[in-house]
Amino acid sequence: MQALYFTAHGGVEGLEFGTRPDPHPARDEVLVRLRAAALNHLDLFVLRGIPGLELALPHIGGADGAGEIVAVGEDVRVWKIGDEVVFNPGLWCGECEYCRRGDESLCVRFGLLGEHAPGTFAELVAVKAEALSRKPSHLSWEEAAAFPLTFLTAWRMLVTRARLQAGESVLVHGIGGGVALAALAIATRIGARVIVTSGDERKLERARVLGAAETIDYRAADVAREVRRLTGKRGVDVVVETAGEATWMASLKSAAKGGRIVTCGATTGPNPAEELRLVFWNQLSILGSTMGSRADWSGMVEAVERWELRPVIDSTLPLSDGRDGYARMARGEQLGKIVLKVDAS
Ligand SMILES: [Zn+2]
Repeated sequence: MQALYFTAHGGVEGLEFGTRPDPHPARDEVLVRLRAAALNHLDLFVLRGIPGLELALPHIGGADGAGEIVAVGEDVRVWKIGDEVVFNPGLWCGECEYCRRGDESLCVRFGLLGEHAPGTFAELVAVKAEALSRKPSHLSWEEAAAFPLTFLTAWRMLVTRARLQAGESVLVHGIGGGVALAALAIATRIGARVIVTSGDERKLERARVLGAAETIDYRAADVAREVRRLTGKRGVDVVVETAGEATWMASLKSAAKGGRIVTCGATTGPNPAEELRLVFWNQLSILGSTMGSRADWSGMVEAVERWELRPVIDSTLPLSDGRDGYARMARGEQLGKIVLKVDAS
């Protein structure tokens, strides 16, 4: 098969497009012929090398994808050749205490497609049958490939962890990012009032069209002060954190008394300044969140279908030009998902 892969960790110049051996599905897996795949920040981290993560090289990245089943393992009963599918990019053992109680993203051996196993930047990928769902019928192949990781992440953050309710207020930092845009889509549909930030007026304008009630340009205004002003000095009920060092203090100062800050990432760095007095005096809940359980996944896919949610697509490139997609993500220029289209040869 054709694939985008790298043979050594480093920058985007190390990515190559060429032939790799076809994967073979295990007993409980299916083989998916991909129609499209999508980039995540994670793919850049994996390319650069994550301390402590030893990969078998060459490695194929990519957690997100959508396509058709072309082969099924001998134990797979529900799925058949020709089914159009999307899949949960998480990998879990199914046996540990967390998996047994249905908290798969807490699995002691938790991993991700494209990180701990060969990913979706290829014509073919092997996926566990229990990770599959039918492709939502209102989405194109590009959209179907673009929503799984970010919508799953945002769903667990808002619905499962923060228990967001209609009528509550939410602050979402950095509205160009995939998780931030998914959080905006889900939170507005739940009935929350969403305030977003960006340093790019174009992204703020787009966010208003997508349903943001208020926008803050963080280059022009102090985010926490502006949030206080927009909420009658109260602060927001929920803060969606993906950035870490650049935004953490603003998150602490923007949360209402009893507010919840839910974090799934630290794209600007993992060691922010901290202010514990704000945490205990305002009785804040700091909630961690990673990917989602099988129940989160099915709840999210059902909501995407029922509410006809769509991911925002920044650009679409052929898989053979995937290096340009990685480079665009590294420059942080994107508004939404960068999709790689896979043409079956
Ligand atoms: Zn497990």
